[in-house]
Amino acid sequence: MKEKTLSVSAIKQGTVIDHIAATQALKIVSLLRLSENERRVTIGLNLKSRSMGLKDIIKLEDVFLSEVEAAQIAVFSPSATVNVIENYQVAKKYRVEMPSPIREVLSCPNPRCITNGEKTTTLFVVEENNGLAILHCNYCEKRFSLS
Ligand SMILES: [Zn+2]
Repeated sequence: MKEKTLSVSAIKQGTVIDHIAATQALKIVSLLRLSENERRVTIGLNLKSRSMGLKDIIKLEDVFLSEVEAAQIAVFSPSATVNVIENYQVAKKYRVEMPSPIREVLSCPNPRCITNGEKTTTLFVVEENNGLAILHCNYCEKRFSLS
């Protein structure tokens, strides 16, 4: 466990999002706008993980996630863990939790959906189906999964 914490604590303070499903880190950074405001972001893609095979990792310097942001990360990768770093140490570690409903972070894949034509906030209800998250648009009833 010690070696693991060392590998993620190379930043003085901020957040390390670990155990992200491989290929999801870029989506998370762009959809959650994590790189805005000149934030320093380090992204690791397809890193070896004993438990997952391959994983992605995101390091955010001087950034602490809100509960809403952590929940939005779960939409893309329910396996992700959030490490809060203070003074090069992991001060707190928690697993993200899938929110329901999900607001704003995603757009509806149905091009005819009212949320794509107007400035209406999207809202999706999450259902679980064999470990997969199925999202259900509150406006057009479209069902889809992210994986
Ligand atoms: Zn829709």
